[in-house]
Amino acid sequence: MTIPNYDVIVAGSGPAGSTAATLLAQRNHKVLIIERSRHPRFHIGESMLPLSTPVFNRLGIQWDRKRYLHKNGAQFIDEKGGQQVRFCLNGQYQPYQVERACFDHMLVNNAVSHGVELQQEESVRAVDIDTDSVQVTTDLGRYCTRYLIDATGRSTLMGRKQTGIERIENLGRFALYTHYRNASSTTARELYLAGDIKVLMVDIGWIWIIPLIDSRLSIGLVVQQPIDSSQRGAALYEHYKNASPILTELLAGAEQETAVRAEADFSFINTRRHGRRYACCGDAAGFLDPIFSSGVFLAVTSAERVADRMHPALANGTEGDPTLHAADDDHYNLGFRSMQLFVERYYQYDMVHHLFFEADRSEDIKNDIAALLSGDLWRGNNEFQRMLLEGRQNRGPGARRGL
Ligand SMILES: Cc1cc2nc3c(=O)[nH]c(=O)nc-3n(C[C@H](O)[C@H](O)[C@H](O)COP(=O)(O)OP(=O)(O)OC[C@H]3O[C@@H](n4cnc5c(N)ncnc54)[C@H](O)[C@@H]3O)c2cc1C
Repeated sequence: MTIPNYDVIVAGSGPAGSTAATLLAQRNHKVLIIERSRHPRFHIGESMLPLSTPVFNRLGIQWDRKRYLHKNGAQFIDEKGGQQVRFCLNGQYQPYQVERACFDHMLVNNAVSHGVELQQEESVRAVDIDTDSVQVTTDLGRYCTRYLIDATGRSTLMGRKQTGIERIENLGRFALYTHYRNASSTTARELYLAGDIKVLMVDIGWIWIIPLIDSRLSIGLVVQQPIDSSQRGAALYEHYKNASPILTELLAGAEQETAVRAEADFSFINTRRHGRRYACCGDAAGFLDPIFSSGVFLAVTSAERVADRMHPALANGTEGDPTLHAADDDHYNLGFRSMQLFVERYYQYDMVHHLFFEADRSEDIKNDIAALLSGDLWRGNNEFQRMLLEGRQNRGPGARRGL
């Protein structure tokens, strides 16, 4: 038998991997992160939710106001119909709009400062789990650990190995996006002050507008309609950008920084997100269309739960129990399913027109929606969330609310 050199190996150092690694190292476990890229590396996913902040506080993150912009609200806009609504987010925790290269680098440096070892430009290729340990094979060598955390994002290392990936159909199919600098129009300056994310509804999906520091903007088109692969390029993005009066005004005088990028592979759940001597967190456990900016929030909260359950198990030597994380399934599913249903209602029941634009008429419903948009998914007294969850069995809260 090979003697494990590590208590935990974490594959991947996005927000999920760095969170899990830091929380375990804070409790004196010997942790190695293996990351296939080198930080700072580009990543999309820039708008945070307030309820991520308690996790960042536990990590000891110090926010540099010169690098990150305060986020205060979320606006949903139908330009053609002339309707819009703004939701203030949870005021207790300050969220940010972040450039991910910088943000993810900060998180992984923070992990290292807590004692985590980091191997970059090394890719995990194979994982062999036996009763007493886990053998991890990379493109550069082999390691032995007591436990593996899969935080490889949408690469889903263990999900693919265990054939646990189930696609969630009918949400966004792909995204086309880019960044702009020197956005200094009056509307751009107003947006930097407000710090809001704007979501523009369009016939084939939606467009995000995220303000970043230094007069920069992140803009992306998410497409839900089936579109021939030959037409999924930059011209489609340009068409929708040019058709939007808001974007035309906002981008007056701005310079596009990069070519339009594309991402596909949207929305899935990993039905085997834990087992003997391994657990998945973040996108490796499941990924949802980013309309409500839930990705990093689900990444860090799922990583926190995995780390908190593992600490006593490692201390007591019970980490080999294949059911170690089963007690967390209800908690995880409540959060993920609530967000999934929320996103599904956006696409299938035109929820923004039928509910969001009507929300100013009822403070209660507006607060309930704002709570979900803040990531407040486990508080237990959200009537709108309850209806979403019940609707899954009863074929839709839309039956009652016109969704
Ligand atoms: C178009 C789009 C827009 C989005 N917008 C938002 C948003 O506004 N707000 C938000 O919160 N979320 C958003 N997201 C989602 C967000 O990007 C993810 O949910 C988040 O990055 C998940 O973090 P993670 O740590 O699980 O994975 P990742 O951040 O993807 O990190 C995974 C890491 O694992 C590494 N890795 C992969 N395979 C291996 C391997 N075999 N060996 C070693 N390392 C490996 C990768 O290099 C990477 O560094 C968006 C996503 C998309 C696609």
